[in-house]
Amino acid sequence: MIWLALSGILGSCGGNGHRPQDDARWAAIRAAMVQNQIAARGVRDERVLSALRQVPRHLFVPEEFQAQAYEDHPLPIGEGQTISQPYIVGLMTELLQVKAGDKVLEVGTGSGYQAAVLAAMGCQVFTIEIRPALAAQATERLKRLGYFNVQVRVGDGYRGWPEEAPFAGIIVTAAPERIPQPLLQQLAVGGRLVIPVGSFYQQLKVVTKQPDGFTEQDVIPVRFVPMAGEVERAP
Ligand code: SAH
Repeated sequence: MIWLALSGILGSCGGNGHRPQDDARWAAIRAAMVQNQIAARGVRDERVLSALRQVPRHLFVPEEFQAQAYEDHPLPIGEGQTISQPYIVGLMTELLQVKAGDKVLEVGTGSGYQAAVLAAMGCQVFTIEIRPALAAQATERLKRLGYFNVQVRVGDGYRGWPEEAPFAGIIVTAAPERIPQPLLQQLAVGGRLVIPVGSFYQQLKVVTKQPDGFTEQDVIPVRFVPMAGEVERAP
């Protein structure tokens, strides 16, 4: 059944997703992605899985990659940048441990997909993108798809978004070589920073703000595009 649906949609070269029957096919492919790539690897938070089942990932990638949108790898989104592999989005979102109503900061808007997943969980999302063309595209896309609880800002995320701090969670989707200190200062007590750190070899880390300092945990090795801007220049 699923196979027929899959070959149908791939055969017609990625329908535009606006016809109801296409929406149902994409939803079935998405459910399979969540089950086989994300839940199967240990992501258990039902709020995260449910958001991933809802957000139309194929509408966040360039049209020529739509048919691959639910495959188990990252994809190019222009300007040499990539949208993360679905599993990594699921894992990082689960590690953030945020809930509806929480304020979340994202550094590295890219396509807007990660921001949409957090918005689908009911978070108030603030996201910063250093490349103006990607920020403009993501802003337009998020509005068109109805993710009104996301604000996109163009700029260097190194210094965070102090006017909206503190955040229950901060997620960074480009890798700096060191953790930007201003981001730690913008965490609420109990809040978490989920961030890939390193250059060629990177570790996904979770830093939690405790009442009396920070704790840090290494999760898995990852591969993200480098974080640009001030963090490359700071000593
Ligand atoms: N979260 C994105 C994927 C991000 S790819 C998604 O869901 O599609 C990483 C993004 O981080 C790129 O778009 C890159 O331009 C951006 N970036 C790199 N350095 C940055 C910085 N200092 N501040 C803000 N964005 C940055």
